[in-house]
Amino acid sequence: MSPRLVLLGRQGSGKGTQCAVLAEAYGIEHLSTGDLLRIAVAEGSELGRKAAPLLEAGELVSDDVMIAVVADHLAHVGAVGWVLDGFPRTARQATALKELTADRPLDVVINLDVPKDVAIERLTGRGRDDDVDNDVIMRRFENYEREIDRLLEWYAGRRLLETVDGLGARAEVSSRLIEVIDRRLAARAGGNLDNR
Ligand code: AMP
Repeated sequence: MSPRLVLLGRQGSGKGTQCAVLAEAYGIEHLSTGDLLRIAVAEGSELGRKAAPLLEAGELVSDDVMIAVVADHLAHVGAVGWVLDGFPRTARQATALKELTADRPLDVVINLDVPKDVAIERLTGRGRDDDVDNDVIMRRFENYEREIDRLLEWYAGRRLLETVDGLGARAEVSSRLIEVIDRRLAARAGGNLDNR
């Protein structure tokens, strides 16, 4: 059974790495909006030209643009499961995602929880080009903090939210995630039987 997942987590939470692990483990698509934007910037496409100054400043790309990008990608992955990385980031994006997945709803939204000070330490040691500037790192954190509580509340209210401790060895965190996802998938299978 192919899960449909959202991973939420601040920059430096290890979210991207864990999404890649989950994609491999379940044979599903890893859709990272940050990666898509960075590729678009590198290619110099229209999207890339629009997004470049925002990425550089650590500001969010507009909801309309991001929703269109994700809608397009979800339409192409078809029936296969997926893990969304970096989307939704705002309440409006979450509402749009609900509509986009009306036929095949999300199985679970996981909040990969890593304290801010640990995340900052990881990021400043990471040395990726666009992470070098501390002001940009802090700007991204501010944007994250501003929206995340509403998103968590929104998904908790829909009984989709699980929180997983993101501290510890990479493999340990992966096992925690897989355990939570498998439990949700088992519940989905049980629910389907009940509906027959
Ligand atoms: P990430 O790799 O997820 O940290 O994303 C890198 C940058 O891409 C962010 O700082 C934003 O500028 C932009 N971005 C990625 N996903 C979104 C989104 N869902 N909404 C708005 N901006 C986004």
